[in-house]
Amino acid sequence: MALCTLCERREAIFLRPYSGERLCARCFSKSIERKVRATISRYEMFEIDDKIMVAVSGGKDSLTLLHILEKIEREFPESELGAVTIDEGIRGYRDEAMKLAVKNCRKLNIEHVTSSFKDIYGYKLDEIVDIARDKGKGLTPCSYCGVLRRRALNIVAREWGADKLATAHNLDDETQTIILNILHGDVVKLAKLKPVLTEPHPKFVQRVKPLCEVPERETTLYAYLKRIEFQTTPCPYARTALRNDIRNMLNRIEEKHPGTKFTIYRSIEKIRPALEATAKKVRIKECKLCGEPTIGDICKVCEMLQELSIL
Ligand code: SF4
Ligand code: ZN
Ligand code: ZN
Repeated sequence: MALCTLCERREAIFLRPYSGERLCARCFSKSIERKVRATISRYEMFEIDDKIMVAVSGGKDSLTLLHILEKIEREFPESELGAVTIDEGIRGYRDEAMKLAVKNCRKLNIEHVTSSFKDIYGYKLDEIVDIARDKGKGLTPCSYCGVLRRRALNIVAREWGADKLATAHNLDDETQTIILNILHGDVVKLAKLKPVLTEPHPKFVQRVKPLCEVPERETTLYAYLKRIEFQTTPCPYARTALRNDIRNMLNRIEEKHPGTKFTIYRSIEKIRPALEATAKKVRIKECKLCGEPTIGDICKVCEMLQELSIL
């Protein structure tokens, strides 16, 4: 490959198709860190003395985020960084990820809080999936997992006293979710899909996504270049999700038309005010059964567990 477009000294190892840049390992890593800093300041994600909890699954994205935030937060001694890992209870998958999360936090000297679906809901995801199958319910494992994990992360972050909960959603995750929400016609979820989410209820910890403008293949390359040890085995349930097909479709389009993912992401930014005007009419209450914030009388978590008769 030719020389790096930025430093013009070292050999390029990566071609960024949507910008035409050819980058060496050093300039590539620096460009990712710069991008994350720019996203943080563009959306005013953090205050100088924030207590930030990073959701760490043990995968490449969350560990890349943890490493970059640790680097950035070193410059802000008033701030505090912690990590949380939720064990969903997925046989042969989460155990390895948990070990890697623990190892990385130790290495970076970051406080690590763990919890599990079993602790919070009384059941592992595997058990919930079996019960749902026996009852003939049509939801995919990821539908249960997503709703239960979001709640679990919020509870742990709140109890830890976090001002912000940082998740490692990258550009690919965000564009996939946009398409999924359009397919479901879910205006409220589309309006809420943004880099900083402040829900109007004190029980919600503000959620921020510092990697939302970094494509997935770039978070992966960053993790490899920085020799971050992350889990490579995919979740056994991932194949069953519609998201997986949308990922493949978007990757095919991106290959043919570089920059499409950014275009989708920016288009939502443009129509967000209109979406928010509709979503604003929704009032947040507390769930009659568990007391957690929700838009209905009963929250999605209680509704799901009730349907499976395990509440
Ligand atoms: Fe949960 Fe689905 Fe992700 Fe597996 S792929 S961890 S089931 S959301
Ligand atoms: Zn360079
Ligand atoms: Zn509830």
